[in-house]
Amino acid sequence: MSSSSAAPKFRVAICGAGIGGLALAIAIEKFAQHDVQINVYESRDDITTAGAGISIALRATEIMRELGMYEEIFGVSTKFPSSDLVPSGPLVRKSDISEGGFKWFQRITKQEGLLMTRQDLVDILKQHLPASCTVHFNKHLTTYNKQPAGSIALHFADDSAATTDVLIGADGIRSSVRKTFFETIDRGLVNSSKIAHYANAYWTGSLIYRAMFPVEKLSKMDPNNVVSKGSVLFCGKGKVNCRNHWFYLPPNEVIIIPQHITSYLVSQGTLINVVAYVSDKQKAGTPFEGHWVSDVSREEFEEAFQNFEPAVKNLLKCCENPTRWALHVVNELPLSTCDRVALIGDACHAMTSHLGAGAGQAIEDAFVLGRLLAHPLTRLDNIHVALKIYQDVRLSVAQFIARESEDLGYMYEFNTPGYYDGTDRGNEGEEGSEGDGGAIAGWLKAERKLQESVTLYNAPLFSLL
Ligand SMILES: Cc1cc2nc3c(=O)[nH]c(=O)nc-3n(C[C@H](O)[C@H](O)[C@H](O)COP(=O)(O)OP(=O)(O)OC[C@H]3O[C@@H](n4cnc5c(N)ncnc54)[C@H](O)[C@@H]3O)c2cc1C
Repeated sequence: MSSSSAAPKFRVAICGAGIGGLALAIAIEKFAQHDVQINVYESRDDITTAGAGISIALRATEIMRELGMYEEIFGVSTKFPSSDLVPSGPLVRKSDISEGGFKWFQRITKQEGLLMTRQDLVDILKQHLPASCTVHFNKHLTTYNKQPAGSIALHFADDSAATTDVLIGADGIRSSVRKTFFETIDRGLVNSSKIAHYANAYWTGSLIYRAMFPVEKLSKMDPNNVVSKGSVLFCGKGKVNCRNHWFYLPPNEVIIIPQHITSYLVSQGTLINVVAYVSDKQKAGTPFEGHWVSDVSREEFEEAFQNFEPAVKNLLKCCENPTRWALHVVNELPLSTCDRVALIGDACHAMTSHLGAGAGQAIEDAFVLGRLLAHPLTRLDNIHVALKIYQDVRLSVAQFIARESEDLGYMYEFNTPGYYDGTDRGNEGEEGSEGDGGAIAGWLKAERKLQESVTLYNAPLFSLL
């Protein structure tokens, strides 16, 4: 039971006010009701996010319902005509044919996740932050250390410090908490030769171009463009030449590299969100030189997809102020908690974005961990038990999804052994449906596994609660 008049049973510091950190603060407060003191430390001066779209997986929307935010999230999401069984998965095309591509397949499903802008999602989370939770801005955590009494001292870039009983690293892919966690961990727990492997993020060799623009822009230029009708994946292999200097090619050399583009409608169908991948697996694991995120010209973006079908060329012509992201991930960690510290979201398992699942996984971490911390049975003297349950329940699930996401990226670029390799006309002419073709079977298998995983990890959690 909550005891709002009593002193909080312990203090939790959440490092990072991103999607995971905000969801965690909301979950703890909803179920603990003042029993736990929450401080959020955010390095920026506001709660904000990149101007881009996001898809929130169905299973994460169930959590939004539990946290009392579903109606608002649904309200800002893109609506599609409802029917019992409509092709609501993305239309997947083979597009690396300059005269025109073709439909590869389309998944048929009863219900998809929700599509929205990241800012709309973050604004809703921000509005639901409990008044009792204190957010400290301009607090970039640099490191932490354990104190003899068991509490944790937090150190920030502005030379200030704070103390807490429990520290949650929700500070994203370049997590300072993860770095200190592995650099200071008992060497008996982790192979010491792998500390840097766990502490640092890993470049996948992929670059992502992202842009958003009003749907009318494309409607005027190309009224029948397939993108205006819903989510589309344009798959293929592209030609990249020396002018795409970020791949460090010798002058005049042209290479064929895997590429694909995801596009979908956000902001209630008024904006088109474009996410375009260019991948060089030979670069995977090498250090990425330069800024991980930078503004680029539209020409660079267009050039990378010069051999793609006209629908893609028109789509890219409309892109305003594209940015380029070097796609990094976190290597699979052997553990996500130690003593009174735990990692959630991208700090723990930043993954490729092919499945559109990273934010959903951060929300799931937050929900499970938040409920465990808030539980009446959890006290400061057994907090490590609650944190260990969080690890047991969540880490392998998130890592499984990260692997599925990586595999999906290979599939979209015709690079998965045993699947369609893009050399013939694949499933053209067939009505895409569940069970069609190796690629679809693989995708559906992934989806079934996701559902099984949810059931598996929810069972012990809910029997405990
Ligand atoms: C191109 C692309 C597309 C994507 N599309 C989707 C999608 O459609 N669906 C989906 O579910 N996921 C998607 N993702 C993944 C998703 O964006 C992330 O998984 C999600 O944002 C992770 O949330 P987080 O809260 O863990 O981390 P973040 O969102 O990175 O938040 C971390 C927060 O911590 C703060 N911070 C960082 N360091 C410190 C520090 N040292 N001290 C204090 N504060 C700090 C940051 O300022 C930030 O506010 C995509 C990712 C990419 C790259």
